[in-house]
Amino acid sequence: MSRSLTPVWEALHTVADPEIPTVSIVALGMVKRVGWDDEGIDIDLVPTFLGCPALDLIRHRVVRAVAQAAGLSPEMVRVRWCTEVPWTSDRIRTEAHGPLRRMGIAPPPEPAEAGAGEPVPCPYCGSRDTRQDNAFGSTACRSLHYCRACRNPFEAMKPV
Ligand SMILES: [Zn+2]
Repeated sequence: MSRSLTPVWEALHTVADPEIPTVSIVALGMVKRVGWDDEGIDIDLVPTFLGCPALDLIRHRVVRAVAQAAGLSPEMVRVRWCTEVPWTSDRIRTEAHGPLRRMGIAPPPEPAEAGAGEPVPCPYCGSRDTRQDNAFGSTACRSLHYCRACRNPFEAMKPV
């Protein structure tokens, strides 16, 4: 069998967190390592947010997409969740920021601008005239905000 990693990465680029369907798990920084051995492919993933519920579904999608792309049976694709290295929001690639904003989710702040208590810029209009309404949005990893400039509620990914 071919041991190219290219089709594996291409397959991973098609897998998304069901909470954020427009951004691949690669762009979210969840893929830590991909490697071949004699028994198949090992994929190490970093869970984005401990406690977010979609991990089983993501693993299932990864196995299906990679097995198909590499011509392997699903048992030969082994997905491991790495919890020894915590996912941090700076693993999100900048290519994900635009799609996140278009979903009304403010990406986590760049480390340089992450002042404690700084208002989160609105993903719709860019205004910083926003306030935090609730520390917990639709998932524990997001907070709820309100933009006074364009009067839209929005969610922000918490920097972790
Ligand atoms: Zn706004």
